[in-house]
Amino acid sequence: MEYKLSWWEDEYLLKDVDYTILGAGIVGLSTAIELKLIAPQAKVLIIDKKTYPVGASTKNAGFACFGSISEILDDIETFGEDLCHRLIAMRWRGLEILRSRVSAQAMDYQGRPGIEIFPKDEEALYHSKIPNINDQIEYILGEKQCFSIREGRYGNETVNRLEGCLNPQKMMAHLELEARKLGVIFLQGVEVSKILESNSELITNFGSIFYNKLIVCTNGFTKRILGEVDVQSARNQVIVTSPIKGFSLDGCYHMNKGYVYFRELGSRLILGGGRHLALEEEITDELDNTSKIISYLTTLAETKILAGENIKIEKMWSGILGVGKDKMPLVKKVNDNVFIAVRMGGMGVAIGSYVGRVMASILLENDNRDLQLFVRS
Ligand SMILES: Cc1cc2nc3c(=O)[nH]c(=O)nc-3n(C[C@H](O)[C@H](O)[C@H](O)COP(=O)(O)OP(=O)(O)OC[C@H]3O[C@@H](n4cnc5c(N)ncnc54)[C@H](O)[C@@H]3O)c2cc1C
Repeated sequence: MEYKLSWWEDEYLLKDVDYTILGAGIVGLSTAIELKLIAPQAKVLIIDKKTYPVGASTKNAGFACFGSISEILDDIETFGEDLCHRLIAMRWRGLEILRSRVSAQAMDYQGRPGIEIFPKDEEALYHSKIPNINDQIEYILGEKQCFSIREGRYGNETVNRLEGCLNPQKMMAHLELEARKLGVIFLQGVEVSKILESNSELITNFGSIFYNKLIVCTNGFTKRILGEVDVQSARNQVIVTSPIKGFSLDGCYHMNKGYVYFRELGSRLILGGGRHLALEEEITDELDNTSKIISYLTTLAETKILAGENIKIEKMWSGILGVGKDKMPLVKKVNDNVFIAVRMGGMGVAIGSYVGRVMASILLENDNRDLQLFVRS
């Protein structure tokens, strides 16, 4: 039987929509909020396949970070200094925007040092790079002596004094509330299976939906609806242990160029990553866990992070990243009516609010310093 909307539903949800945003993750919500802040009269609709976001925005480990020493050095080597500097500036700016929008209390934000640990034989090499990286961070962010070294629980650790952690579910709940307060309309439980660009039409399980301007914010799921775009799904798995008596960590830990991360969650350990061990297998948008990654994370917890403790894994899950040939998010006009803001990599919590601002600026042709940073060639 065909599902029929009432006059009122049709008028409220689908009539005269100026901006149709696909995906209610941090990027979709931030884009919607920015549009309504600059153009309050515009009708903005967000469509998501679930009643809660299922990609990455509520599945991550809640790190508010912009890069560890090994990750920054790797990015400079792979992508060059300029791109790496811009990424750091964008992540920093994204966190500034996020923290001005959602209070620390509302999303349990805490300033916590970002700590990186290395195999013993690599410590000296990475430590020797700190003065140079500190000069670069001062140049990019104006912050002096960002990184230092300390004798810590896991050896000689590097400390980034500018990082923090948060509760991503609370962050998203507040962003959604903010969007609703500004008048953004939500259509949840509606999955888009096809975009018919010639007709400005979305084929969905809710019937056809026509758009005026469409903004695709589906990150790691984008290939399913826009095949030509350079964004690939990459799964990231996470475990949480049962409470461990007396356990606490004073920072957010990074290992292996950002591929592994852990922190305390009350008296539990939350530990995620390990994708570098199975790069091919983890190119998927299936939200599963695999024995290979889970046993790697469990062994790491048992033999290093919580060595000597009897641990029990209480919960595990996965989330889907959008990655590509470089780490720069893909934020652009595809044609007159279709726009895209995807490929947040492993840093969408940090960069997502900034990307929302850039996307809204492109849509509204509103030039500003944030857009300038993005388009700088
Ligand atoms: C385990 C893990 C750890 C992470 N750690 C960090 C970190 O430490 N720091 C950091 O900054 N970032 C981190 N990230 C990355 C960050 O979470 C993501 O980059 C960010 O959340 C991406 O946001 P998004 O809005 O682009 O996409 P998503 O949050 O994935 O949102 C996309 C939305 O689109 C919807 N959708 C998809 N396809 C369709 C369709 N066909 N029809 C309708 N709706 C659709 C989905 O339901 C989803 O809600 C991590 C991610 C994971 C998974």
